[in-house]
Amino acid sequence: MTRVFNFSPGPATLPEAVLRQAAEEMLDWHGCGMSVMEMSHRGKEFMGIYAEAEGLLRELMGVPSNYKVLFMQGGAIGENAIVPMNLIGRNGKADYAITGDWSKKSHKEATRYGQAQVAVQGDNVSIPKQSAWKLDPAASYVHICSNETIGGVQYHWTPDTGRVPLVADMSSDILSRPIDVSKYGLIYAGAQKNIGPSGLTIVVVRDDMLGHALPITPSAFNYQVQGENDSMYNTPPTYAIYIVGLVLKHFKANGGIAAVEAHNARKAKILYDFLDASSFFRNPVAKEDRSLMNVPFKLKDETLDEAFLKGAAAGGMIQLKGHRSVGGMRASIYNAMSIEGVQALVKYMQDFERQHA
Ligand SMILES: *Cc1c(COP(=O)(O)O)cnc(C)c1O
Repeated sequence: MTRVFNFSPGPATLPEAVLRQAAEEMLDWHGCGMSVMEMSHRGKEFMGIYAEAEGLLRELMGVPSNYKVLFMQGGAIGENAIVPMNLIGRNGKADYAITGDWSKKSHKEATRYGQAQVAVQGDNVSIPKQSAWKLDPAASYVHICSNETIGGVQYHWTPDTGRVPLVADMSSDILSRPIDVSKYGLIYAGAQKNIGPSGLTIVVVRDDMLGHALPITPSAFNYQVQGENDSMYNTPPTYAIYIVGLVLKHFKANGGIAAVEAHNARKAKILYDFLDASSFFRNPVAKEDRSLMNVPFKLKDETLDEAFLKGAAAGGMIQLKGHRSVGGMRASIYNAMSIEGVQALVKYMQDFERQHA
């Protein structure tokens, strides 16, 4: 068996140890005679798996007790509608900081549910300084995307929104670094980049944010209803929750989120240092706003893109093609990407540069 180095933006690579454990437990989980996939979500086996996953998430993220952790479905794109449906009703308006494709999409969807205002419009290659933001003190919330997966810009500071709750799409950097959850009113993220398979959406929401859902909000997407039912108002994505539990246990055993952050910083440095020294490859993002998760880069001569991707695949490095809206390349180096994977990529890029420069 050869596993590739998978630089996919998502669904993304997972820790091999976790995949092995899941394979071992596939047919008979802990002697109960069935797979996790076959369990009732209300049975005692799955309730235990659920409680452990939630407990680990709370512990590793440092979620305060006045926040609910919800395991939902619909992905972050679903949340683009679910967030305003649940939260915009307080004042009928919300502020959006647009820093790239994902926050732009969030804003556009929110306009269907209330007055979605643009607090700031970035240039896609940097995060605008807070002094350039126009915040409405009467907004129901301020929405940001903490890591723009396509453009490769990431917040390395937390906006100060005063008494207006901060809402963040953390789909592509959740649990990649320690954060102070108490600075946020709500955090949401699809699991499929840093912590598990697709199909599961994590929502961490402060209790006082609840209770303003628009009447049109589907019950299954109403945070208050899901909170009151421990995310079991409908059947939750049970197998994805189980895998997330295994991934979080793996992180905990390997030093927790501080260790994950150090590992991610090391990988990103290897890649950015190489890009900055190269006159053949280029990353367009302002240094202080660069993403430690998604590293877009362009070749000096784009007619070589195909050859670059082909050679990479032949060397066991896949999914390096950039998003169609920006072109070029993108290496996604989420939590489970190894140092060896990044070193192999840099080695390949060095060789490619030598051959084609
Ligand atoms: C991947 C991603 C999404 C889309 O998630 P879906 O699971 O497809 O809904 C949204 N926002 C960000 C920041 C992402 O990285």
